[in-house]
Amino acid sequence: MDQCAIDTLRHEAISPQSLLIDGRNIPSVNGETLAVISPIDGSVLSTIPQADTADVDLAVSVARKSFEKGLWAKQAPAARKNVLYKWADLIEANALELAVLGVRDNGTEISMAYKAEPLSAAATIRYYAEALDKVYGDIANTPGDVLGLVHTEPVGVVGAIIPWNFPLMIGAWKIGPALALGNSVVLKPSETASLSLIKMCQLAHEAGLPEGVLNVVTGSGAVTGKALAQSMDVDVLAFTGSGFVGRKLLEYSAQSNLKRVYLELGGKGPHIVFADSEKLEEAARAVVSGIFRNAGQVCVAGSRLLVQKDIQSEFVQRIRELAEAMKLGDPLDLKTQMGALNSSDHLSKVLSYIERTKSEGLEIITGGNQALPQSGGFYVEPTIVNNVAPQSSLFRDEVFGPVLSVTPFESEEEAIALANDSDLGLASGVWTDNLSRAHRMVAAIRTGVVHVNTYGGADGTVPLGGHKQSGNGQDKSLLAFDKFTNKKTAWIKL
Ligand code: NAD
Repeated sequence: MDQCAIDTLRHEAISPQSLLIDGRNIPSVNGETLAVISPIDGSVLSTIPQADTADVDLAVSVARKSFEKGLWAKQAPAARKNVLYKWADLIEANALELAVLGVRDNGTEISMAYKAEPLSAAATIRYYAEALDKVYGDIANTPGDVLGLVHTEPVGVVGAIIPWNFPLMIGAWKIGPALALGNSVVLKPSETASLSLIKMCQLAHEAGLPEGVLNVVTGSGAVTGKALAQSMDVDVLAFTGSGFVGRKLLEYSAQSNLKRVYLELGGKGPHIVFADSEKLEEAARAVVSGIFRNAGQVCVAGSRLLVQKDIQSEFVQRIRELAEAMKLGDPLDLKTQMGALNSSDHLSKVLSYIERTKSEGLEIITGGNQALPQSGGFYVEPTIVNNVAPQSSLFRDEVFGPVLSVTPFESEEEAIALANDSDLGLASGVWTDNLSRAHRMVAAIRTGVVHVNTYGGADGTVPLGGHKQSGNGQDKSLLAFDKFTNKKTAWIKL
């Protein structure tokens, strides 16, 4: 990556955006738009259409027609594979442009976004392209006079609702497996991070995806998202976002056609450091990057540090020094390690958590303030709060910002009890040099992923899914195919 190229791209004008329906860029029926605000400096970058039920219904009917005509679903697997490969190549060829566009829209530091967004999305699309012709049905073990067949079929029309923290990566986790098996898709990006996803989906058409197979509707959750979730003709809804919205989607499904709803929700990741670890410096760096990269707006963020009491003061000192040395600021500067929060609303939410922490009299050992207010952007200092009791809201609620709570423990049993003392169960981490303890912790912690002696970075070969109120279903790996397929059996008398 080259700073000059980034600086050129960051000043490019962004034209008003359109919906992408039936392969065409069109305005919303009502003509309404939403402003796109850059979290870097609060400037207005562009507009997106505010699609309502009329637009969503159109997109869903176009998706249904494309599916029923078999424009994509009935293409030979090798042909679908080639289109997806070509799409992945185009995403890579446009990676810097996509990354800069996305960062201008959502504020993630480019040093992280470049790999985590376009490059990760391209790898995901390629993974599912490679896998799509390795999916087989089954022949059941029946008596000789009958034949029992189990077919795996695409579900039809998939609705996908995407959050703002990693739009391309998470978008590809849904679109990749859904398209690979022949479904048609209607995608709704977050209203505060639509630009790069619109561009990535336009590239799919350049790669040869038939019109109507992948459609994008933009707008607010309350209008556009709700219309998609209440559609009578969406078969499966795949969502990543907050538990608050996840609950609404289940209601919308019940109020409409009982569509299957898959929820990838938030986390409150316990990151556990035992005194027996000989890699405490590495652990400290992992704890700091595990909560402060992307300003803490990461579903698998390790937002609760649980540290063994014997090493608490030494370890907290290490992470404090690392946090204070972090370069916070312009996310399009390659040297920046922590960028902006996504929106002014989210800035207010994170600051209100910090105010609550102060009013509870908790010990903020570094940070605790808005940063760079003169920039016009939405920044918060990396914040560490020591000796947080499990009853505190900071221990329990997902802040989704750069705020780390520290809680000491004495024994392994206490660490497990604290780790599991949460309604959420997405990700966790354990640092120990005791192999038996590592395995015991993996078995005991109720999260979808347990990292051992590392944090984050699990690639597409392993699934990601929440336990408890962090959701259901799996993104990534071959297991993601399950969400976008139906099983059908044939029972044939011979
Ligand atoms: P959000 O729930 O506010 O919004 C997510 C999406 O839902 C957006 O596109 C939004 O427009 C839409 N939406 C909002 N209200 C809606 C409604 N009534 N009907 C239909 N759609 C609606 O989440 P966010 O703030 O964009 O993202 C942050 C959340 O996402 C955090 O909780 C984070 O942990 C979670 N997340 C989870 C994962 C995971 O893999 N489990 C990954 C990333 C983010």
